[in-house]
Amino acid sequence: MKNDFDVTILHYEDPSEIRSGRIRSTQVHFHPALDRERRFRMPDQDDAPPIKTIHFSLGPQKLFIGRLTHAAASVDQRLAFARVMEDLERQGVTFRKTRVTPDDLNELAGSYELLIDASGKSGPLAPFPVEPELTPFQTPQRKCAVGYFKGVAPVRPEGVSITVVPGVGEMFEIPALSESGPVTVLFVEAVPEGALDAFKGVKTPQDFQNRMESILKESFPDIFGRLDPGQFSLADEQAYLLTAITPVVRRPYAMRNGTLVLGCGDSAILADPITGQGCNTASYCADRLYETLLERRDSPWDETVGADYWNRVRTYVKEVTEWTNAMTGPLPGHVVNMLMQAAADQSAADKIVHWFEAPSTAHAALFGT
Ligand SMILES: Cc1cc2nc3c(=O)[nH]c(=O)nc-3n(C[C@H](O)[C@H](O)[C@H](O)COP(=O)(O)OP(=O)(O)OC[C@H]3O[C@@H](n4cnc5c(N)ncnc54)[C@H](O)[C@@H]3O)c2cc1C
Repeated sequence: MKNDFDVTILHYEDPSEIRSGRIRSTQVHFHPALDRERRFRMPDQDDAPPIKTIHFSLGPQKLFIGRLTHAAASVDQRLAFARVMEDLERQGVTFRKTRVTPDDLNELAGSYELLIDASGKSGPLAPFPVEPELTPFQTPQRKCAVGYFKGVAPVRPEGVSITVVPGVGEMFEIPALSESGPVTVLFVEAVPEGALDAFKGVKTPQDFQNRMESILKESFPDIFGRLDPGQFSLADEQAYLLTAITPVVRRPYAMRNGTLVLGCGDSAILADPITGQGCNTASYCADRLYETLLERRDSPWDETVGADYWNRVRTYVKEVTEWTNAMTGPLPGHVVNMLMQAAADQSAADKIVHWFEAPSTAHAALFGT
């Protein structure tokens, strides 16, 4: 984009603040997102442990190990964002350190031909209207507790492991790369007030670690059995996160003071992380946004450009959103049957795991579209 457009990024943390800050995500990028990053020559994620498989368990029962078509990767966003910012800065992209407010948009609108609101889940700054048919919930469906740990022996073959405990929540175990080297991400998605919703009152990294260890012991003995008691610890003091997200989809364009504002990422499309799709959806939308602007570069950037962008991403956003929202409810009977069938059929297991690389296939399996 930097070669096609003159871009200024307004951001309130510089790379060193991001590096030393709190973890933000579990950030698994599936291969379509990694392919886009290569195409845009972004810093590569090749030093991350390759995620080639997804292990799936229902309660204590291990059902299958499905194979992804290409490796996925998780690089601590503190590291990845800092690297990307430094790389863009080297290539001449302008950064202005400031915390933008919704009121600032009017003034910014006078200085730029286009604004992109990528303010994440603390946004949006622009008045993007909510899309009611893609926004069924008014409260979080899960409480999220994530820690990056040392001292957990990986599953074999190396990959993500998902354990669904019906009615209670999910545990995700993800190999990732952080500043300190390889880590194991342990991510609890707890149904509010259920048995896994056990991180209330956590105030210190040690509290968090103790709470995670007792949850593993009580509910996830397979992971507990792979802890090295002498080594098990958070990767650093900031390597834990407690959050809860109310999913909301907004139409990702609005006019402000005569200037078009487009939304990309969580500011417009905010999902529960249960299917690990937020970064992947943001990447898809950013790519389509770029294509839209390239095709419309010689015409005025008005509301019709916003509508064009939304038309290009709407089907993908609908499919990934409906799949993700469905996963926070009770698993439908036909999905449980598919999971059971996958236990005895490797190609069925691979198909289910492919849902994460191609959300339209998940949507088709769930809703028959
Ligand atoms: C627990 C958890 C696990 C997840 N796991 C996955 C996963 O495995 N795979 C996946 O694809 N997605 C995952 N996600 C979702 C993913 O992290 C987000 O979708 C993704 O990071 C969104 O990117 P973004 O750029 O829109 O927002 P962000 O990553 O939040 O970035 C927004 C940036 O804007 C800056 N900013 C915000 N407001 C302002 C302002 N007013 N002025 C200036 N700057 C501002 C912030 O500093 C921030 O750096 C997960 C999310 C959570 C919470």
